[in-house]
Amino acid sequence: MAAHSNIVGGSTAKRVIACPGSVKLAQQMPPRPSSRYADEGTLCHSIMEGVLAHECQPEDFIGDKLGDVTVTAELIETKIRPALEALDLIDPGREMTYECEATVGFGDALPNVFGSADLVGRIGSTAIVLDWKFGDGVDVAVEENPQAMFYAAAAMRTPKVAWAFKDATSIDCIIIQPTADTPVKVWRTTPDRIRAFERQLFAAVKEAMGPDPSMQSGDHCRWCAAKPVCPLLTGAVDRTLKTSLQNIDAARLGEMLEQAPMIEEYLASVRALAEQMLAEGVPVPGFKLVQKRATRQWVNDDEAQAALSRLGLDDTELMVAKLVSPAQAEKALKKRKLALPGELAVAVSSGTTLAPESDPRPAALQIGRQLATALGKIV
Ligand code: SF4
Repeated sequence: MAAHSNIVGGSTAKRVIACPGSVKLAQQMPPRPSSRYADEGTLCHSIMEGVLAHECQPEDFIGDKLGDVTVTAELIETKIRPALEALDLIDPGREMTYECEATVGFGDALPNVFGSADLVGRIGSTAIVLDWKFGDGVDVAVEENPQAMFYAAAAMRTPKVAWAFKDATSIDCIIIQPTADTPVKVWRTTPDRIRAFERQLFAAVKEAMGPDPSMQSGDHCRWCAAKPVCPLLTGAVDRTLKTSLQNIDAARLGEMLEQAPMIEEYLASVRALAEQMLAEGVPVPGFKLVQKRATRQWVNDDEAQAALSRLGLDDTELMVAKLVSPAQAEKALKKRKLALPGELAVAVSSGTTLAPESDPRPAALQIGRQLATALGKIV
C-alpha cells in the first residue's frame, strides 16, 4: 500500500486547509486498521497499474488477495473494465503519455508532504492528473477538488513527472469512479489556479506546525482521525447534552438536530477507537470485546444437501427460490446495457424519517392529520 504523509496528503488536504489544528491532534492517534473497502481499493489500484504500466491483463490478477478481499471475475467486470473503458473516453486516440502510481511531493519546499498520484499524463498542451475511485459510496465532485489539486501541485514539483506540466496551458483533473452516476468527471483548470492552491496549502501547513494553529469544524471532520479527542466536537457534544430538555422549544430542537450528524459521527469514532484499543490489548475501563451473535451456517453446502435428502427432505423443502430485488435486477441488466422497465417496480417507503429542510425529498404528507384538518374546515 502507498505510504502516506502524516502531515498532509491528497485525501487530507481539504481537512488540513480548513482546520490546521487537526494535524498535530491526528498525529497523536493510533493508525487506523485497514478496512475491507480500503483493501479492495488498493487491489483495484494495483490492477490498473499492472494493466496500464506493465501490459498485464486484468484477468491475470484473479485470485490475488489482500486482507479478506480476493480479486474475482466479478470485481474485474464491475470495476476494472468500466475504469478502462472510461479511460478510452478520455484518450480515444491513445495519445497520452503517462506515469502510474507516481509518488509526488513538494521536496524541500514542504518537507515530508507527499502522496501517490494514480496517473499523471499529458495530451497535447494539457497535463492530466487522474484519480481512480473504486468505492461504492459518495459520488465525488471534481471541480475545485482539493485532493486533485494536491496531486497536481505536488506533481508539478516532482522531477519524475514534472515533464507533464512543462509549458502546459491547461490541467485536466479527472476522477474515474466506475460505480458513480457520472463515472468520468473532468475539471479543466490552469497552472495558475494550482499554484494559488499550493500557496493556500503551504500557509495551512506552516500554521499547523506553529504554536497555536486554528481549528474549524465542518464536513471535513468526517474522515478526521482526531475526532474522538477533538475539543471542538467534545465541546459541541457537551453543550448539547447540558441543555435542559424541559425548556427546549421547537426552534432550539431544530438547532440541536442540526448537530446530530456531527454528534453521531463523533460517537461512532469514539466507539471505533475503543474497539481498536481493546483489539490491541489496551484496557478501556468498563468495556470489553465480545463475539457478535453467532448464526449457524452449513459446514459444507453440498454435503448438507445430500445428508438432508437422505433424511427425506425433498427439493421444495430444501431450496428457496426467490426473485431478486429490483436493485439486483437493475445491476444485472446494466451489465447487458439494458434498463429496468419502469413499470415493473414501485418504490414503497417503510415509513417516515426525520430529515433537514434542505433534504431534496418532499415533505411526507401526514394524511390522517391533514384530512382531519380539512374536514374540520368543512363541518
Ligand atoms: S474533528 Fe474537525 S474540528 Fe476537530 S480536529 Fe478534526 S477537522 Fe478539526
